[in-house]
Amino acid sequence: MKSVNWSDFRDHIATADRSGKRKWVYPRKVAGLWFRWRTWFSWLLLIVMFAGPFITIRGNPLLMMNIPDRKFVVLGQIFWPQDMILFALAVLVGVIAVVIFTTAFGRLWCGWACPQTVMMEMVFRKIEYFIEGDAPEQRELNAAPWNGRKIFKKLFKHAVFFALSFLVGNVLLSYIIGWQQLYQIIVDPPAKHVVGLGFMTAFSLLFYGIFARFREQACTFVCPYGRLQSLLLDENSIVVAYDYKRGEKRGALRRAQRFGERRYAGFGDCVACNNCVTVCPTGIDIRDGTQMECVHCTACMDACDNVMKKIGSTTGLIRYASLNGIERGERLRVTPRIIGYSVVLLALTSLLVVLIFTRADAEATVLRVPGSLFQKMPDGHYSNLYTVRVVNKTSRDLPVELRLEGLPGSVQVMGDGSIIVPAQKLVENSVLIEIDPQAMRNDTTPLVIGVYSAGHRIQTIKTAFIGPRN
Ligand code: SF4
Ligand code: SF4
Repeated sequence: MKSVNWSDFRDHIATADRSGKRKWVYPRKVAGLWFRWRTWFSWLLLIVMFAGPFITIRGNPLLMMNIPDRKFVVLGQIFWPQDMILFALAVLVGVIAVVIFTTAFGRLWCGWACPQTVMMEMVFRKIEYFIEGDAPEQRELNAAPWNGRKIFKKLFKHAVFFALSFLVGNVLLSYIIGWQQLYQIIVDPPAKHVVGLGFMTAFSLLFYGIFARFREQACTFVCPYGRLQSLLLDENSIVVAYDYKRGEKRGALRRAQRFGERRYAGFGDCVACNNCVTVCPTGIDIRDGTQMECVHCTACMDACDNVMKKIGSTTGLIRYASLNGIERGERLRVTPRIIGYSVVLLALTSLLVVLIFTRADAEATVLRVPGSLFQKMPDGHYSNLYTVRVVNKTSRDLPVELRLEGLPGSVQVMGDGSIIVPAQKLVENSVLIEIDPQAMRNDTTPLVIGVYSAGHRIQTIKTAFIGPRN
């Protein structure tokens, strides 16, 4: 077995010791320009995230992934299982957009917009600082024996964490089943919604586990996006980078030493204060280079900028830059890879837009009732029983009529004889189709059924009619 080279940071993860035990990360509080911008942006995202289930567009939610009812809503547009091609195409467009974005701008998403980072760094971490103090106080508290103060702080923190996780779990659930159904689960007797309550508890425990214990490990071990970085990033991608040309050779700043003197002595601008390491929520040293664990949270940029300001040097020793930018002073370049991805993205987006705008108002399926046989009617005609399912994709009720195309016969809708599909709903009816024996072909006759609404044919469906063998 290959042994681990502990001096090589790429040979092991920063949050495990030599025995494989987890090293708890205590990132220090950070302040600075980037943190301020991220705080404002996070507030905006949190408002959208928590208000999302209540925002509607033309009566439909902004976003809903209703897996139990197989109904998906994106920006108020409903996608039914029948729209799976559209949905798959939309996912593909999203994936390619992410690939292009990542190739150009690295993990900007992770640091600024990923719900895991936003919730962890801007909500849970801040609560932890408020209750337990900054990193040194947290270390001290964890090492201290259990006493009244420690029990109170720990209980208080975990109670708040669980309450918040419960809230986050419910928000996620309302993106799946809609807030109205979630409200019903809350107000109805528990026995009526055992499954819903089960999911509510499971989501709450999951988020509590992630934010109280799992933390940065979710990004390092679970998130596939982080793992893709080595595939997507190239030397022109913008990442959080340490300017090693300017920073090396690093060495502590001696009292009364000027930068000119440092340079003369062969030192760079990095004063080896380690502040960029102590603020890192994933426990890495960005001076080692781009690493899978780095979520581009900008904390090290702020920490280093603060040091540079203090010692009178220019900021940006750690900054957003590409490898080529640092090595050769190049600006962001549009590479052939980005052009290729963009062409594919443009083509797929155009196809998606065309498909969305030309999709039918309704979609029907007609299937013979399994196990049913043909019947001979008193007038000599033969009949088959079918199940028809019609999905109404519009926001108005839709009367639907079925007609036999090109064959003498009739279509009878069971029940009140008509199909009216309420807006954004699916209805299922039984339909009896009769045809003249003269028109039948041996035991299986191909049928073409026209689906009409307000006199317009919106779809034709092919199926088969079973009759007696000649
Ligand atoms: S290296 Fe810097 S940007 Fe990357 S996770 Fe650590 S603090 Fe954030
Ligand atoms: S914060 Fe800046 S100066 Fe301090 S160790 Fe990190 S890179 Fe060097």
